[in-house]
Amino acid sequence: MKLVKRQRMLIFLAFSLLLSGCAGQGDDAGDAAGTRFFRMDTDISITAYGRNAEEALTDAQSKVAELEKFWSVTDENSDIYAINHSQGSPVNVSEETEKILSFALDMAKQTDGALEPTIYPALTAWGFTTGENRIPDKSKLEEILKNVGYGNVHLSGNEVTLPDGMELDLGAVGKGFAADEVSKVLKQAGVISALLDLGGNIQLIGTKPDGTDWKIGLRDPFGESYMGVLSISDRAVVTSGNYERFFIGEDGKQYGHILDPATGYPAENGLASVTVVAEEGKLCDALSTSLFVMGQEKAADYWRENQNFDMILLTEKGEIYLTEGLADKFELEPDYGDVKVERITKTADRKGE
Ligand code: ADP
Ligand code: MG
Repeated sequence: MKLVKRQRMLIFLAFSLLLSGCAGQGDDAGDAAGTRFFRMDTDISITAYGRNAEEALTDAQSKVAELEKFWSVTDENSDIYAINHSQGSPVNVSEETEKILSFALDMAKQTDGALEPTIYPALTAWGFTTGENRIPDKSKLEEILKNVGYGNVHLSGNEVTLPDGMELDLGAVGKGFAADEVSKVLKQAGVISALLDLGGNIQLIGTKPDGTDWKIGLRDPFGESYMGVLSISDRAVVTSGNYERFFIGEDGKQYGHILDPATGYPAENGLASVTVVAEEGKLCDALSTSLFVMGQEKAADYWRENQNFDMILLTEKGEIYLTEGLADKFELEPDYGDVKVERITKTADRKGE
C-alpha cells in the first residue's frame, strides 16, 4: 500500500508579494535573503530581512541540522535513538532534547494524552514510519497500546528513562519547536522580519518589511485553491490534518497518520484539519495535532479553558469554525463566498458547533 503525502494546507501566498515588496525598501529593512533546504523529513524555506540576513540564514540552517541530529528517530547518533534503544537504562541527553521532551510531556498531560509522544509503536504497526502501510489487527494494536503511555517516561534534569519496549517520537512537535529556536537565532543576528516555512509550519517574525501583515493562504483540503486568507504578523501558524498523509486500505477506507492514542486507530471525528495560531511554534504544533485528535467539541472546550491560542477548525463537510481572535483576520476567497464560517465564542453555544 502506498503512502500518499499531499501538500500541506497552509502555504504562504506572501512569497511573491514579499519579494516584489522588497524593492524600494529603505535601508532600515536591510538586505533580503532566502534559502530552501530539506531537513527533518520536510522542505524548509526561510525568507529574512535585516542587516546580515544572509549570514543569519546560514546560522538558521545549521540550527535546524543540529536539532535534527538530536531528535531524529533513525539517526543512530541521536538522543532519541539512544533513548529508544536504552532497554530501560537512563540516558543523558542534550539541553535541547531535555527542553522539547519536557514540553511534549507537559502538553501530553494538558491534553489528557491526545498528544502522545510514545505513540511510535502504533505508527509502526500502521506502516506510517516506513510508508509500507497496512491495517493492523485489532488485537495486535491492543497489545501495542500496552507499551504506549507518556506517564511512563521519566525525565529528571537531562536524564531520561524509558521502559524497555516503549519508543519516543517528537514528530508532532519537533518542527514547531525548531521554528522557535530558528527564530531566536535569526532575531539575534538582527533579522527584523522573516517568514519561515517548515513543511507547512509557518513562523512569522515581525510584519512584512513594508509594515503590513503577512498573508497566509488556507488551502482547500478537497481542492487545489485557497479557501481564505489569514492576515497576521509575529505569530506561528500550524496545521494538522489527516488528508495530508494517509493511505487507502484494502477495505477502500482512508487511514490518516494522526492516531487517537486511546484506540490506536487514526483519529476520525469529522474534522478535516486544525490550524493553530499562537506566539510560539511549539505550542501551535503540539496543539494542532492534539486538537485534531480531540475533535470539534473538545477542541472548542480546550480553547475556552486555555485561550492562549487561536484556531481554525475545518470540518469534513467543508465548514469553518474559528475562534474570536481571528474573526477580523480571516477572509474567505470570493469563490468560497458561500462557505459557512462560524465563530467559536468564549461561552459555549452548542448550536454552532
Ligand atoms: P506533521 O508533522 O506531519 O506536519 P503533525 O504535527 O500533526 O503533522 O504530526 C503528526 C505526526 O505525529 C504523525 O506523522 C506521527 O508521526 C505523529 N503522531 C501521530 N499521532 C500522534 C499523536 N496522537 N500524538 C503525538 N504524535 C502523533
Ligand atoms: Mg503537530
